[in-house]
Amino acid sequence: MMVTDGHSLRQGYFDSMFVNILTAMAHEPEPPVIVVGAGPVGLAAAAHLADRRLPFLLLEAGDTAGNSVREWGHVQLFSPWQYNVDGAARRLLGAEGWPEPDADELPTGTDLLKRYLLPLAESPVIAPYIRYGTTVEAISRLDVDRMRTVGREKVPFVVRLADGEEVLAQAVIDASGTWRTPNMLGANGLPARGEAAAASRIFNAMPDVLGTERDRFAGRHTVVVGAGHSAATTLLALADLAKAEPETRITWAIRAADPTRAFGGESDDELPARGLLGSGLHMLIDSGRVTLVPNFRTHTVELRDDGVELFSRPGQSLLCDQVVAATGYRPDHSIASELRLDLDPILSAPRPVAPLIDPNDHACGTVRPHGYRELAQPEPGYFIVGMKSYGRAPTFLMATGYEQVRSIVASLAGDLEAAASVELVLPETGVCSAVAGAEALAQRMGISPELHTSLLHATARHLGRSPSAAAAVMAAAAELGVDESVALQLAAYAADRFDVPGTNSC
Ligand SMILES: Cc1cc2nc3c(=O)[nH]c(=O)nc-3n(C[C@H](O)[C@H](O)[C@H](O)COP(=O)(O)OP(=O)(O)OC[C@H]3O[C@@H](n4cnc5c(N)ncnc54)[C@H](O)[C@@H]3O)c2cc1C
Repeated sequence: MMVTDGHSLRQGYFDSMFVNILTAMAHEPEPPVIVVGAGPVGLAAAAHLADRRLPFLLLEAGDTAGNSVREWGHVQLFSPWQYNVDGAARRLLGAEGWPEPDADELPTGTDLLKRYLLPLAESPVIAPYIRYGTTVEAISRLDVDRMRTVGREKVPFVVRLADGEEVLAQAVIDASGTWRTPNMLGANGLPARGEAAAASRIFNAMPDVLGTERDRFAGRHTVVVGAGHSAATTLLALADLAKAEPETRITWAIRAADPTRAFGGESDDELPARGLLGSGLHMLIDSGRVTLVPNFRTHTVELRDDGVELFSRPGQSLLCDQVVAATGYRPDHSIASELRLDLDPILSAPRPVAPLIDPNDHACGTVRPHGYRELAQPEPGYFIVGMKSYGRAPTFLMATGYEQVRSIVASLAGDLEAAASVELVLPETGVCSAVAGAEALAQRMGISPELHTSLLHATARHLGRSPSAAAAVMAAAAELGVDESVALQLAAYAADRFDVPGTNSC
């Protein structure tokens, strides 16, 4: 007689139930690959799936494709078009007569949306398979919870939507981004005390300071908290506003003792436009147009009748009209909590990806391209891609995401050779070489090469008689009729590259 314990009995029951499920499934058509999120990377996944003729369904929470990009539409990208269009999407749209934008041009978020993402979403091979206004709330396996091991890879995923509907999937590509989950003001990663109550005076990163939100910022005192690209972009926009609205005051609060790291590679940056962001910020500090407050670690926020006050260590606080929390983003993995995930404990990114993107060691140009192998989870068929695949690391580039989904879709199609190959043209210097040099930057800012050279010479001439290098740049700009802030940014960029005497101290 066979002796069975309770566990074996339960196991036997589950196994036979499982056989029934698998038998029933053998008669069903294969469910689609579900892509969560119709941002740049989710749409690229759809283009690759269409290219490979794999059935797919793209679920998007917003009313249109590029829902998050639309919210930062006023921001200029720092990567030119050639890095912003996915390969399969280019082929697909090209066949439909799409006018491809100039490879070297830098689009805004709105350009990206209107000239690329929306046309892609409207392509006849993608449009019928997108559902808008459809938020994915949870993902699991059909009739199988996270505990069950045997045969779990053979049952489809169940994707639960906000309205309760459940959709089956043979694989899930999670391209839901991180835009909807910004970090808090609290220096320790938790919301600062009082942060929620003061929400009316706190903007998340990237307010449209020069456009729709202008009235909220003009003539007011704003504290920008954070040290990434979003902070730099907002500070530069505020400085522009301050030129027209001189009462506008700008304070920049950072946790670090020294802002150098926030300036990035400046002229050494592989993406010149991003380098310019850092050098522009550097100039704003050196010229006193932005007040830097280092070592500021927000722990409490107090709403006042006349504004809002941020508190750091005892005796240190900042009173202002409003705060811009440019403190980065974090992924929300809660939709996959019933799946088996292996995430890096620091970044919350897929573990094998984390060492490639550690913000302490890497800028985006140095990230090795990676694909289905690095992105595979212990849950077979579930992949986290795009911005979300970088967890809390801020260095994600769309081009990296396009390579991720190319490789994953090839693996889903069984083409392991293509899946293992590396097709991303993003070598360390490749991005830079496309638009390298201060002259190219000057041209993009509307300054001819001749005028740019004159600006450098005039600056050098003024250096001897000006109180500071920044003053010399401004005097040269005035002499040549060049916009002051453009001249300051170009001078900072050129200082390192051409070793202009004295301007390094700008
Ligand atoms: C201001 C800014 C500037 C940037 N500039 C550059 C640049 O110059 N070059 C570059 O290469 N990269 C840049 N990036 C980084 C990155 O490439 C972009 O954030 C890009 O949009 C990421 O694409 P994504 O598809 O991964 O995510 P997103 O664009 O964030 O798309 C995610 C989509 O998923 C949807 N979604 C979210 N949750 C759910 C859910 N539960 N169910 C259904 N749908 C959901 C959202 O509505 C959204 O449409 C920038 C980012 C920012 C914020």
